Amino acid sequence: MDDLQKISKVSVVIPVYNEQESLPTLLSRTIAACKQLKQQYEIILVDDGSTDASGDMLTAAAEEPDSHVIAVLLNRNYGQHSAIMAGFNQVSGDLVITLDADLQNPPEEIPRLVEVAEQGYDVVGTVRANRQDSWFRKTASKIINMMIQRATGKSMGDYGCMLRAYRRHIIEAMLHCHERSTFIPILANTFARHTTEIEVRHAEREFGDSKYSLMKLINLMYDLLTCLTTTPLRLLSVLGSIVALSGFTLAVVLIVLRLIFGPTWAAEGVFTLFAVLFMFIGAQFVGMGLLGEYIGRIYTDVRARPRYFIQKIVGEQNQINNQEENE
Ligand code: UDP
Ligand code: MG
Repeated sequence: MDDLQKISKVSVVIPVYNEQESLPTLLSRTIAACKQLKQQYEIILVDDGSTDASGDMLTAAAEEPDSHVIAVLLNRNYGQHSAIMAGFNQVSGDLVITLDADLQNPPEEIPRLVEVAEQGYDVVGTVRANRQDSWFRKTASKIINMMIQRATGKSMGDYGCMLRAYRRHIIEAMLHCHERSTFIPILANTFARHTTEIEVRHAEREFGDSKYSLMKLINLMYDLLTCLTTTPLRLLSVLGSIVALSGFTLAVVLIVLRLIFGPTWAAEGVFTLFAVLFMFIGAQFVGMGLLGEYIGRIYTDVRARPRYFIQKIVGEQNQINNQEENE
């Protein structure tokens, strides 16, 4: 086995936001699962500005001797993905596993994830085996997943489940992305070479409610979209061109019909007005799309994602002078 594939330490990163009811079970189950590992481990819990006792409970857990628990307390609520990123900044393991604090992702699957990752995968995703959602939600997910698949070129069936494993170099690549809004599973896949998926169980939320309000969900959807692509901006020009072209066609048809049937036809020019209007509206959209193209490029530059990552240099100057130089 090549040294890139060997895992000597596993880091588990868990974002926590007002989860005081599930924390005791979460901690005991996660620690029990980690004890089964051959590797060393650490459990990093990030308190995302909870207003309940979560922060204190995490501190207490971390202060226990030999608990392998590290508590990272953020000063306010920044959102799940920012919290996970904060955890990524502290990891020291070769393999990083994320999961939710609400026990919807069973911690017992951690050893299996490690085992699969050890076969040489950069990212191990998960599919919720017994996902109990409405037909509408499932179809929506399917369409979104298909779009993501096209954009990233990686085939994964489920991006909604946060129980995932990432190799250290993927984490480092993600930490070098400067955008503020991220959707971690997608970002990880843009940097991964070998990915795979395994089926895991999925439980109902036992305590409390989902921490995502409708507004936060909409925000997450946009994060997902903008993390992935700037194509929607281009759609403006496409749409504009279609409107302008149909306006133009309408105008031509009107002129021809007017010549054949005389001026009373076409309601004395009302339709012509529409045709002209459509052409202008279309032109405006094309203009906006053009602006969009510039904005898209500005956005890509502002994110300043690394252009590439060197995994290994073999040969005489055996040093990885990584991203610093090409940023
Ligand atoms: N979470 C967080 N900050 C937030 C919202 C959620 O750290 O602002 C955490 C939350 O504690 C949980 C995970 O993110 O561990 C997933 O949240 P939730 O279960 O509410 O999301 P859902 O399962 O409904 O998508
Ligand atoms: Mg949940």
